[in-house]
Amino acid sequence: MAKTQKYVYFFGGKKAEGKADMKALLGGKGANLAEMVNIGLPVPAGFTITTEVCTYYYKNNHKYPKELKAQVLDALKKVEKEMGAVFGDPKNPLLVSVRSGARASMPGMMDTILNLGLNDVTVQGLIEKTNNPRFAYDSYRRFVQMYGDVVLGLKPKDKHEHDPFEVIIENKKHAKGVKLDTELTADDLKELVHEFKTAIKEKTGHDFPDDPMEQLWGAIGAVFGSWMNERAIVYRKLNNIPEWWGTAVNVQSMVFGNMGEDSGTGVAFTRDPATGENVFYGEYLFNAQGEDVVAGIRTPHPISELAKENPALYKQLDNIRKILEKHYKDMMDIEFTIQQGKLWMLQCRVGKRTGFAAIKMAVDMVKERLISKEEAILRIEPNQLNQLLRPIFDSEEKKKAVESGRLIAKGLNAGPGAASGKVALSAQDAEEMAKNGDKVILVRIETSPEDIKGMNAAEGILTARGGMTSHAALVARQMGKVCVAGCGALKINYADRSITVEGRDDVLIKEGDYISIDGSTGEVILGKLETKPSEVIQVLITKTLNPKDSPTFQTYNSLMNWADSIRRLKVRTNADQPDQASNAIAFGAEGIGLCRTEHMFFGENRIMSVRKMIVADTVEERKAALSELLPLQREDFEGIFRVMKGYPVTIRTLDPPLHEFLPHTEKEINELAQALGISYETLKAKIDSLHEFNPMLGFRGCRLGVLYPEITEMQARAIIEAAINVMNEGIKVKPEIMIPLVGHVNEFKLQEDIVRRVAAEVMQEKGKKIDYLVGTMIELPRAAVTADEIATRAEFFSFGTNDLTQTTFGLSRDDAGKFLPLYVQQEILPADPFETIDQQGVGKLVEMGTKLGRSSRPNLKVGICGEHGGEPASVEFCHRTGLDYVSCSPFRVPIARLAAARAVLNERTTKTTKSKATAKPKAKSAGKTKAKAKKKSTK
Ligand code: ADP
Ligand code: MG
Ligand code: MG
Repeated sequence: MAKTQKYVYFFGGKKAEGKADMKALLGGKGANLAEMVNIGLPVPAGFTITTEVCTYYYKNNHKYPKELKAQVLDALKKVEKEMGAVFGDPKNPLLVSVRSGARASMPGMMDTILNLGLNDVTVQGLIEKTNNPRFAYDSYRRFVQMYGDVVLGLKPKDKHEHDPFEVIIENKKHAKGVKLDTELTADDLKELVHEFKTAIKEKTGHDFPDDPMEQLWGAIGAVFGSWMNERAIVYRKLNNIPEWWGTAVNVQSMVFGNMGEDSGTGVAFTRDPATGENVFYGEYLFNAQGEDVVAGIRTPHPISELAKENPALYKQLDNIRKILEKHYKDMMDIEFTIQQGKLWMLQCRVGKRTGFAAIKMAVDMVKERLISKEEAILRIEPNQLNQLLRPIFDSEEKKKAVESGRLIAKGLNAGPGAASGKVALSAQDAEEMAKNGDKVILVRIETSPEDIKGMNAAEGILTARGGMTSHAALVARQMGKVCVAGCGALKINYADRSITVEGRDDVLIKEGDYISIDGSTGEVILGKLETKPSEVIQVLITKTLNPKDSPTFQTYNSLMNWADSIRRLKVRTNADQPDQASNAIAFGAEGIGLCRTEHMFFGENRIMSVRKMIVADTVEERKAALSELLPLQREDFEGIFRVMKGYPVTIRTLDPPLHEFLPHTEKEINELAQALGISYETLKAKIDSLHEFNPMLGFRGCRLGVLYPEITEMQARAIIEAAINVMNEGIKVKPEIMIPLVGHVNEFKLQEDIVRRVAAEVMQEKGKKIDYLVGTMIELPRAAVTADEIATRAEFFSFGTNDLTQTTFGLSRDDAGKFLPLYVQQEILPADPFETIDQQGVGKLVEMGTKLGRSSRPNLKVGICGEHGGEPASVEFCHRTGLDYVSCSPFRVPIARLAAARAVLNERTTKTTKSKATAKPKAKSAGKTKAKAKKKSTK
């Protein structure tokens, strides 16, 4: 007999039906509530309705499975028993909250209803039970307000309209001659309840339901409904949360933080989510309920104050902190409520953190033996490393600004880093200004979930109200934005679009003015302020900081060493100049994967020779121009070989369409005509004749060298001469000459023959031999599908995935701006294929090219040198496909190193046999990588 499906899971007392690893079914909140029950923490009893019900609800026209009702009633009975109160009972009413809870946390995106079960009868029961009419009516009016908003739909129509309930409260306070909500009496609150209900009826046509059971089902429906509200949809998009996951609904008995001064509510992190420091970190408010802390309406107190105010309570809480970290082995984000001195846990989840904190905590936890190195690596998203590399304000500049009185206020240091930009006072404005290319600081009294698009567009976020766990702070940290929160001195006037500052009559900031914020210190500074490199950059690149003086660098370094000891894939860099190359080495690069010779052509006193070469009419003229270029190129290569100290250097022969180098303005054309001793008209005609309709597919790549072999000759000579010269200085060199845009093996042969002939000549002339390779870039589909033929001659492949993406999709990146964003937005393509490699299409060509190439040359070296080489998902793909290395821009090298290590670890867990087979022959070189990495890290 088929068992009826279980849709409802009880938690409470000593045992829950769910547990932490059931997030897919119970949502994160439900699963962790169950887990906390199971590890003995105090949790108010309740039950979770599964995400499967949500899916069912949307598939079946907002209906529930027929078994649901009985299961809910059943679970409710258990809750009543556990809590010793009865739902809807006039004497001893059980009140509940109805809470959303998706698999991944979506803070504040969906709706919660508190104090459900109250009506004119049960409120009397609550009064008798608590002997506190004010509390009872306060709870009642909060319930009517939330229910009226969330379930019955009475809310402001646009950003200019005030919240209708708040308007009624304001009127009431005015009528009673009081200022604070807390000054309203029980009778006032009772009147509010009535007025709220009347307003709901008038404006929405709905009667407020008195029947608790009707209230409950209304709330459950609204929570499922909130899965599809606009802000939840936007949030899911931004965070890659699939729609089909659905949300669970948690129904939980209420505990009250608003029962007087021995009650309260708070949120905390088991470590500092901004810096990662191992300190208890959080905020609380006495005599407050639920959202009061997070909403930023009152600025709460730091948890450290609780240690003084109520040491016993603090100890309880700190003990829970320890239990949680030991159990979850991670930093946890908790919500708690204290009801008349008793502590209750309402939520816990793995805490969101800045990239900075993520790295510090992961490294610390390895050192505390809480987790392994492997776990630490898996915990850090490679892109989070950006935050260690992110600019800070130049301290001299800042000091000057402070001395000249530009430090206008200080708030909480909620999201580290430095940001400077134009003030935007609404999320919409921020979006628009950012679209126009401005750097923007979004300044709000407080932010709400509706603001996330604007927050995403801003460089930094500044709020006047709210604490370290306010919405602004939470979301900013997750997005990696600089954030200063709760800067109370700011008086933000939305109507005038301006800001004044308490105690600073001289300051008036208008929307559009420059402002600077330091998210590491909380400082707000008037005007623009230059930023400077982070500590890691100061140690590695500018060499202005001693590694010993920078704990941040040490953390970074430990992590990178662990990554290097795990990864198989090598990481090279794309660099055209010695300084770029040496930066990349400092970041851990193990070679150059792409050196674009043409980037050197734009340098002073070079471009003229290049232009002469292009417009030359005869071979002699061209050779003359090339001989001017030869010593310059040689010098460039020498510079690069010197800094690369024996690491492989892949140099690509000339690639771009020639017209890119031609003069465009009349003045420039005149100058060139004069230098060549020809007329303006003749030169103009020549330039026009070089015009191409589709340069991307035109006269470029190896086609240049096929038509003008002397170009390849010159470049080969420059490379080999440079290599021998540097070798003669006692430095190892490893040149790899790369022929671009090969589509047919015959193109490659022609170019290779030239390179080998010239190399032999140079070696003969110099009487020295050097090792070098000749290989090709695979960036045309034809090259990928005939890779076996090409590999009979080519000694290495480098997938140029930028061009390969263009040629595979048949689209030009330069012209794709019109439609590609739309493709991504409408999910016609899952992602921008220039950002992350299109694994199904372009990736298949990479796989095929690698396999075919190695079928004719088993030791073929294969790498990738498109932008993708530093993008984590693409790096993982390259690892799985058995490539030898990725190559990326210098600042992405650390990201690629970490991504490569994660690829190994992820592979261990998924065990895809296919990619293992291709990865195997590389086991030897992996050993070498490790040795080299170790050596490097000790110097
Ligand atoms: P979110 O997912 O937006 O954080 P929650 O479901 O956690 O929403 O609810 C928001 C707040 O409401 C919680 O932080 C908590 O303070 C309060 N709350 C929810 N359920 C209860 C309850 N059963 N008793 C007391 N307070 C509650
Ligand atoms: Mg919550
Ligand atoms: Mg290319």
